[in-house]
Amino acid sequence: MAAGEACAFKAGQTLFDPGDTMDKVYFVVSGAVSVTMPLADGSAVEVMLLGSERAIGLMTAIAPVVTFARVRAETDGTAIVVPSARFAKIVQDRAALRKLVNRETVQMMGEMAQSAACNAVHKLEPRLAKSLLRFHDRVQGDELALTQEHMSRMLGVSRTTLNAVAQGLQAQGVVRYTRGRLGILDRGKLEALACECYQRLGKFQEG
Ligand SMILES: [Zn+2]
Repeated sequence: MAAGEACAFKAGQTLFDPGDTMDKVYFVVSGAVSVTMPLADGSAVEVMLLGSERAIGLMTAIAPVVTFARVRAETDGTAIVVPSARFAKIVQDRAALRKLVNRETVQMMGEMAQSAACNAVHKLEPRLAKSLLRFHDRVQGDELALTQEHMSRMLGVSRTTLNAVAQGLQAQGVVRYTRGRLGILDRGKLEALACECYQRLGKFQEG
Protein backbone atom coordinates (compact mmCIF):
# COMPACT_ATOMS: atom_id res chain seq x y z
CA MET A 1 0.00 0.00 0.00
CA ALA A 2 1.38 3.41 -0.94
CA ALA A 3 1.89 5.70 2.05
CA GLY A 4 0.69 8.78 0.22
CA GLU A 5 -1.22 10.04 -2.78
CA ALA A 6 -0.14 12.54 -5.40
CA CYS A 7 -2.24 15.70 -5.44
CA ALA A 8 -2.25 18.95 -7.38
CA PHE A 9 -2.94 22.35 -5.82
CA LYS A 10 -3.90 25.63 -7.43
CA ALA A 11 -2.52 29.13 -6.82
CA GLY A 12 -4.63 30.75 -4.12
CA GLN A 13 -5.83 27.46 -2.63
CA THR A 14 -5.88 27.35 1.17
CA LEU A 15 -4.41 24.11 2.55
CA PHE A 16 -5.01 24.97 6.22
CA ASP A 17 -6.75 27.86 7.98
CA PRO A 18 -5.87 28.96 11.52
CA GLY A 19 -7.63 26.61 13.93
CA ASP A 20 -7.71 23.67 11.52
CA THR A 21 -6.38 20.35 12.76
CA MET A 22 -3.50 19.27 10.53
CA ASP A 23 -4.90 15.95 9.39
CA LYS A 24 -2.54 15.62 6.44
CA VAL A 25 1.14 16.02 5.72
CA TYR A 26 2.01 17.61 2.36
CA PHE A 27 5.39 16.78 0.86
CA VAL A 28 5.73 19.56 -1.69
CA VAL A 29 7.02 18.33 -5.05
CA SER A 30 6.64 21.56 -7.04
CA GLY A 31 5.30 25.07 -6.51
CA ALA A 32 5.38 27.52 -3.61
CA VAL A 33 3.33 27.44 -0.40
CA SER A 34 3.22 30.28 2.12
CA VAL A 35 2.61 30.33 5.86
CA THR A 36 0.93 33.60 6.84
CA MET A 37 -0.09 34.97 10.22
CA PRO A 38 -3.40 36.86 9.96
CA LEU A 39 -3.92 39.50 12.65
CA ALA A 40 -7.12 40.85 14.23
CA ASP A 41 -6.92 44.20 12.38
CA GLY A 42 -7.09 42.45 9.02
CA SER A 43 -3.40 42.71 8.26
CA ALA A 44 -1.29 39.64 7.60
CA VAL A 45 2.39 38.85 7.37
CA GLU A 46 4.09 35.96 5.64
CA VAL A 47 6.41 34.10 8.00
CA MET A 48 7.56 31.35 5.67
CA LEU A 49 7.66 30.39 2.02
CA LEU A 50 8.10 26.72 1.28
CA GLY A 51 8.89 24.84 -1.89
CA SER A 52 9.97 21.39 -2.94
CA GLU A 53 12.58 21.30 -0.17
CA ARG A 54 9.94 21.19 2.52
CA ALA A 55 6.96 19.32 3.95
CA ILE A 56 3.96 20.84 5.71
CA GLY A 57 2.66 19.20 8.85
CA LEU A 58 5.73 17.14 9.79
CA MET A 59 5.20 18.05 13.45
CA THR A 60 2.05 15.92 13.46
CA ALA A 61 4.41 12.94 13.75
CA ILE A 62 5.27 14.16 17.26
CA ALA A 63 1.86 15.36 18.48
CA PRO A 64 -1.51 16.47 17.01
CA VAL A 65 -1.24 20.01 15.65
CA VAL A 66 -3.88 22.73 15.40
CA THR A 67 -2.67 25.29 12.85
CA PHE A 68 -1.84 28.76 14.10
CA ALA A 69 -1.42 30.29 10.66
CA ARG A 70 -2.86 30.14 7.17
CA VAL A 71 -1.10 27.75 4.80
CA ARG A 72 -1.80 28.68 1.21
CA ALA A 73 -0.56 27.70 -2.23
CA GLU A 74 0.92 30.75 -3.97
CA THR A 75 1.46 28.96 -7.29
CA ASP A 76 0.04 25.89 -8.95
CA GLY A 77 1.97 22.86 -7.77
CA THR A 78 1.98 19.24 -6.73
CA ALA A 79 2.52 17.34 -3.51
CA ILE A 80 2.41 13.87 -2.03
CA VAL A 81 -0.23 13.83 0.70
CA VAL A 82 -0.11 11.42 3.64
CA PRO A 83 -2.81 11.33 6.33
CA SER A 84 -1.23 12.55 9.60
CA ALA A 85 -2.28 9.47 11.58
CA ARG A 86 -0.60 7.20 9.03
CA PHE A 87 2.49 9.39 8.92
CA ALA A 88 2.77 9.35 12.74
CA LYS A 89 2.61 5.57 12.72
CA ILE A 90 5.26 5.27 9.97
CA VAL A 91 7.60 7.63 11.85
CA GLN A 92 7.01 5.84 15.15
CA ASP A 93 8.27 2.59 13.63
CA ARG A 94 11.40 4.04 12.03
CA ALA A 95 14.15 5.65 14.07
CA ALA A 96 15.97 7.10 11.04
CA LEU A 97 12.81 8.83 9.87
CA ARG A 98 12.16 10.15 13.38
CA LYS A 99 15.60 11.72 13.36
CA LEU A 100 14.86 13.37 10.00
CA VAL A 101 11.54 14.77 11.25
CA ASN A 102 13.23 16.17 14.35
CA ARG A 103 15.98 17.75 12.23
CA GLU A 104 13.45 19.30 9.85
CA THR A 105 11.40 20.64 12.76
CA VAL A 106 14.47 22.29 14.31
CA GLN A 107 15.39 23.79 10.91
CA MET A 108 11.90 25.22 10.49
CA MET A 109 12.11 26.76 13.97
CA GLY A 110 15.38 28.35 12.85
CA GLU A 111 13.67 29.77 9.78
CA MET A 112 10.84 31.14 11.92
CA ALA A 113 13.37 32.79 14.24
CA GLN A 114 15.21 34.30 11.26
CA SER A 115 11.92 35.56 9.87
CA ALA A 116 10.94 37.11 13.23
CA ALA A 117 14.26 38.96 13.42
CA CYS A 118 13.97 40.05 9.76
CA ASN A 119 10.44 41.39 10.18
CA ALA A 120 11.43 43.28 13.32
CA VAL A 121 14.72 44.83 12.23
CA HIS A 122 15.38 44.82 8.49
CA LYS A 123 14.20 47.57 6.19
CA LEU A 124 11.42 47.07 3.66
CA GLU A 125 13.47 47.16 0.44
CA PRO A 126 16.01 44.49 1.51
CA ARG A 127 13.14 42.39 2.87
CA LEU A 128 11.19 42.62 -0.39
CA ALA A 129 14.35 41.74 -2.36
CA LYS A 130 14.85 38.68 -0.12
CA SER A 131 11.21 37.58 -0.50
CA LEU A 132 11.26 38.02 -4.28
CA LEU A 133 14.43 35.92 -4.52
CA ARG A 134 12.88 33.17 -2.39
CA PHE A 135 9.80 33.16 -4.62
CA HIS A 136 11.95 33.20 -7.79
CA ASP A 137 13.89 30.17 -6.46
CA ARG A 138 10.65 28.17 -6.32
CA VAL A 139 9.20 28.87 -9.77
CA GLN A 140 10.24 28.46 -13.38
CA GLY A 141 11.32 31.51 -15.37
CA ASP A 142 11.89 35.18 -14.57
CA GLU A 143 8.24 36.32 -14.81
CA LEU A 144 6.63 35.88 -11.41
CA ALA A 145 2.85 35.74 -10.98
CA LEU A 146 2.70 37.91 -7.88
CA THR A 147 -0.35 39.87 -6.80
CA GLN A 148 -0.03 43.12 -4.84
CA GLU A 149 -1.91 41.34 -2.07
CA HIS A 150 0.76 38.63 -1.85
CA MET A 151 3.65 41.09 -1.97
CA SER A 152 1.94 43.17 0.76
CA ARG A 153 1.77 40.00 2.87
CA MET A 154 5.48 39.32 2.22
CA LEU A 155 6.20 42.56 4.07
CA GLY A 156 3.15 42.87 6.33
CA VAL A 157 2.44 46.36 4.96
CA SER A 158 -0.40 48.15 3.14
CA ARG A 159 -0.55 48.10 -0.65
CA THR A 160 0.38 51.80 -0.72
CA THR A 161 3.61 51.12 1.17
CA LEU A 162 4.29 48.02 -0.93
CA ASN A 163 3.88 50.03 -4.13
CA ALA A 164 6.40 52.62 -2.95
CA VAL A 165 8.96 49.89 -2.17
CA ALA A 166 8.33 48.00 -5.44
CA GLN A 167 8.60 51.24 -7.42
CA GLY A 168 11.96 51.84 -5.76
CA LEU A 169 13.21 48.48 -7.08
CA GLN A 170 11.72 49.25 -10.48
CA ALA A 171 13.44 52.64 -10.62
CA GLN A 172 16.78 50.89 -10.04
CA GLY A 173 16.12 48.61 -13.04
CA VAL A 174 15.99 45.48 -10.87
CA VAL A 175 12.38 44.46 -11.55
CA ARG A 176 9.48 45.41 -13.79
CA TYR A 177 6.01 45.24 -12.30
CA THR A 178 2.86 45.22 -14.39
CA ARG A 179 -0.61 44.00 -13.47
CA GLY A 180 0.09 41.02 -11.28
CA ARG A 181 3.34 39.98 -12.97
CA LEU A 182 6.76 40.87 -11.73
CA GLY A 183 9.70 40.42 -14.07
CA ILE A 184 13.15 39.92 -12.57
CA LEU A 185 15.45 42.05 -14.74
CA ASP A 186 18.66 41.89 -12.72
CA ARG A 187 18.90 38.94 -10.34
CA GLY A 188 22.47 39.80 -9.30
CA LYS A 189 21.47 43.27 -8.21
CA LEU A 190 18.44 41.90 -6.38
CA GLU A 191 20.78 39.56 -4.46
CA ALA A 192 23.01 42.50 -3.62
CA LEU A 193 20.02 44.47 -2.30
CA ALA A 194 18.55 41.58 -0.23
CA CYS A 195 19.12 41.41 3.50
CA GLU A 196 21.41 38.74 4.97
CA CYS A 197 18.37 36.56 5.64
CA TYR A 198 18.30 35.36 2.02
CA GLN A 199 21.67 33.62 2.45
CA ARG A 200 20.92 32.46 5.99
CA LEU A 201 17.54 30.95 5.10
CA GLY A 202 19.25 29.07 2.27
CA LYS A 203 21.63 27.56 4.80
CA PHE A 204 18.74 26.28 6.94
CA GLN A 205 17.42 24.47 3.89
CA GLU A 206 20.76 22.85 3.13
CA GLY A 207 20.72 21.49 6.71
ZN1 LIG B 1 16.14 40.04 6.73
